[in-house]
Amino acid sequence: MKLNFEFYPEVLMIDATYKLNELRMPLYLMMIVDSNGQSEIIATFLTVLETEKAITKMVQVFKTHNPNWSLTKVVMSDKDFTERAVFKKEFPSASLLICLFHTLRSLKREVSCEKLGLLPGERDNALELLTAIAYSGSQQEYEDNYNDLKVSGLKSVIDYFDTNWHPICHQWVECFKGANFTVGERTNNRLESINAKIKSVCSKYASLTTFFDQFFAVLACLRNERDHSTLMALVKKPVLAFPPNSPEVKFAEFLTPYATTYVHKQLVLHARTNIQNDTGIHCEVASSNGLLIVTPNRCQCTFWTSMHLPCRHIFTVREHRHVPLFSTDGVAARWTNDYMREKFANKRDASKCGSSSGVCLRLILSMAKTILLCQYIQYRCYTVVIGIYGSKPTKLYSS
Ligand SMILES: [Zn+2]
Repeated sequence: MKLNFEFYPEVLMIDATYKLNELRMPLYLMMIVDSNGQSEIIATFLTVLETEKAITKMVQVFKTHNPNWSLTKVVMSDKDFTERAVFKKEFPSASLLICLFHTLRSLKREVSCEKLGLLPGERDNALELLTAIAYSGSQQEYEDNYNDLKVSGLKSVIDYFDTNWHPICHQWVECFKGANFTVGERTNNRLESINAKIKSVCSKYASLTTFFDQFFAVLACLRNERDHSTLMALVKKPVLAFPPNSPEVKFAEFLTPYATTYVHKQLVLHARTNIQNDTGIHCEVASSNGLLIVTPNRCQCTFWTSMHLPCRHIFTVREHRHVPLFSTDGVAARWTNDYMREKFANKRDASKCGSSSGVCLRLILSMAKTILLCQYIQYRCYTVVIGIYGSKPTKLYSS
């Protein structure tokens, strides 16, 4: 778990899931995406309380054991205020983004007839306008959609939006989120998918012993699936219907299969892209979101900024400048086969040595002293952790 975060610290996704143990402690999962587009749980926490103090302790424990936290550029979560306030403080150099799925779900929950005094038709109209804002592909489109809301006459919705969503538009509107290196992720759906798998195996409100047995079995299966997928990506040579030495073949040899799929699509799309002007330093390329400033290795479009892989606009500029379409410039190291191979070998070596065999489990009991169940919970958790590690745990966090 720790090595996965060490190798892929750029984007951290976090979410909590409930009803998995009889003590009603939520399970927090932290996840990254690797070179092969595989999800990996890199930390799990059970917390008695979800107060700012408890969440802060949880995040600080994570940081203590994962020094590469300072390399995290994006933290993606839902709109939970406490959680976001803590991450803003503890990850000061990272951008906090709200998952698109959670954004739309929050809007649907909050913009209701009861809460904002709307008629059903007004509510539907408001949700349509707000959804359009969330999907805005450019700043101009955001401003146009925002203006549509302002002239809609839905005062309670406008007030709600201006108070809760407009000030943080850079965290949840697609065009602004895409300006960050998100490895192409717009939602926390990967975590939702893992949560569904956990819930399909783990019993509801199980004892902690049963929960950990089942939970670790799920984690082991997910890890085996991921390792198998990575191994296949490293050893299988795809059959490509392209001429030898074509850009498609060269990219397929250089990039992981996951990244190659994206770049091949961009190579197809570049035929439909036109250059408006070439200043000699950069080109202006037309796009659905207006003119983009593009060089042979950089672009302003959300594909390049969120993936750091060459986009259709970059290929058009390279073609225009008569330089080879294939280049290793403009590619993030994490998407290359060499990087994937090296990190996979490192993880296998570490696994053989046993240094990454454990799950990064920390039971946050910092606030448990204030509740009646404190001693019972501490005793139960302590017992379970001993059972998992086969000996006294190195540290049980409490204050
Ligand atoms: Zn581009």
